[in-house]
Amino acid sequence: MINQEFEAILSSLKLFERMYESIRLVDPALKQVLNFRNNALCDTDIFCYTYWGRNEVCDSCIAMRAFKENKTFVKLEYEGERIFLVTAIPLELYHRSRRVVLELLKDITHCLVVDHELISKNDININYSLNDLVIKDALTSLYNRRYINERLPADIVNMTITNQHLTIILADIDFFKKVNDTYGHLVGDEVLKAFSELLVSCLKRESDWVGRFGGEEFLICLPGAKPEKAREIAEFMRKKIESTPVKALEHTLNITASFGVCSMKPSQAITPDAYIGCADENLYKAKQGGRNRVEG
Ligand code: GH3
Ligand code: MG
Ligand code: MG
Repeated sequence: MINQEFEAILSSLKLFERMYESIRLVDPALKQVLNFRNNALCDTDIFCYTYWGRNEVCDSCIAMRAFKENKTFVKLEYEGERIFLVTAIPLELYHRSRRVVLELLKDITHCLVVDHELISKNDININYSLNDLVIKDALTSLYNRRYINERLPADIVNMTITNQHLTIILADIDFFKKVNDTYGHLVGDEVLKAFSELLVSCLKRESDWVGRFGGEEFLICLPGAKPEKAREIAEFMRKKIESTPVKALEHTLNITASFGVCSMKPSQAITPDAYIGCADENLYKAKQGGRNRVEG
């Protein structure tokens, strides 16, 4: 029965053979590549991670995750200059009464169409992961909304436990539509990139982070920053933006931004939405008050 199932898997994989550099069966606990001989699975002395030129287990072993969670996982791996997409699929096939994991290794070095800023041909060893592609915004390389949604509750919990303030700043570029209308969207995009870099350059602590909240609106999270310090940092950012001409294609532009600050000691009753709502109200006040201002 098991053999039949394996044969069925093998024959269906034959169809895909040309699509993958390697198709292999792995014992996730022992990290061993398995062979199929004489209608039975058998050990080899090959460890799955040696394929990546390593002598130790991968940091994120997706064969193990696939095994534990009985779900398919995907990740990127490197082998020299090449980038592989690795898919780990838990099978209904057992060896030493453990579920066997099927790994599909695909060389995607030359067909990886992602943000060209992240992966260029000469810079293939750049330290990024699939995770980065999932949690970062392609245009600005800042964290995306998905990340914000996952990270903010974690920071709130952390600050609740340690009884510290959490500060959220919402920053919105002033009259950005006018930039697009006057110079075009490509220039607008460059402005967004430069603006992002300026915000990041203003961060001091490792636990501080910035995400792109939407269009030309950004969320800055400063765990541990008290109200006074928070306003100081927001004001520092505002001045930095105001005083730094932004290069965008053949243009150099002066831009400003408005900032809404919310700084509170969290409790379980304060949700991420409450923080964002409070910062958004202050951002609205900053816009109403004439822009290029900090409120909150
Ligand atoms: P305010 O000072 O009130 O914030 O005015 P504003 O013009 O900045 O705000 P508004 O909401 O009217 O316009 C935001 C513009 O941002 C409109 C939208 O086309 C532009 N935008 C959003 N995302 C992007 C993007 O990724 N690239 C470019 N180039 N423009 C974007
Ligand atoms: Mg705006
Ligand atoms: Mg806006």
